[in-house]
Amino acid sequence: MNIILMGLPGAGKGTQAAPIKEALNIPHISTGDMFRQAVKEETPLGLEAKSYMDQGQLVPDRVTIGIVRERLAKEDCNNGFLLDGFPRTVPQAEALDQLLKEMEREIDYVLYIDVNEEELINRLTGRRICRDCGATYHLVFAPPKAEGVCDQCGGELYQRADDSVETVKNRLSVNIGQTQLLLDYYESTGKLQRINGAQPIEQVTEQILSLIRGANK
Ligand code: ADP
Ligand code: AMP
Repeated sequence: MNIILMGLPGAGKGTQAAPIKEALNIPHISTGDMFRQAVKEETPLGLEAKSYMDQGQLVPDRVTIGIVRERLAKEDCNNGFLLDGFPRTVPQAEALDQLLKEMEREIDYVLYIDVNEEELINRLTGRRICRDCGATYHLVFAPPKAEGVCDQCGGELYQRADDSVETVKNRLSVNIGQTQLLLDYYESTGKLQRINGAQPIEQVTEQILSLIRGANK
């Protein structure tokens, strides 16, 4: 199954990607994670992406489409994939359509996790991530058992540099307009499913899985 997980920053895409990936046994492809890894390794891609990410701007389409093209060509995508944070602009969506056509594949679902802006700010500024395994926590909504320590692997939890209040506001304003255009784009395909992301984490997961499983029957 080929799925696009859409939602504004903080909507819960990474959180929901974990159980979906597990249930369907497909790779979770997050362009944000790929860029962060490249920044950490100080590759040419990372050096180019860093200045945009630090300011909460989008990395140029040319660069972003290039990394997704390379990633989807890998063997582990043969059974399907879960895209998280891509596409984020209409040109990226058009490039993805072209790419899938070349691969003779189609998107099955575009899942849009819908959350209001005030809640997104609360979620992003309280987010903490494990340095070792990448698991996501929230200081209030999904706290770890021991402060600053990952429940799953014991790794250290950190706050993303772009989750500061100032950068968060910029990221949301940059993404809101693009997201509306993308929703219009996918609405016309009949594949768009809106999920109420204001519910507790487990309920959002249940709704997504029952939707996907229903389709598998
Ligand atoms: P995204 O990948 O869309 O940017 P994340 O999955 O990282 O978002 O979630 C952002 C923050 O909100 C994290 O701290 C996460 O623990 C928290 N969160 C995710 N889903 C929910 C939810 N349904 N209710 C409350 N908090 C949530
Ligand atoms: P995320 O982890 O999805 O919040 O993404 C973190 C940052 O990576 C964003 O603020 C952008 O700078 C960059 N990024 C991730 N995905 C994309 C994309 N599809 N297009 C452009 N920039 C992206």
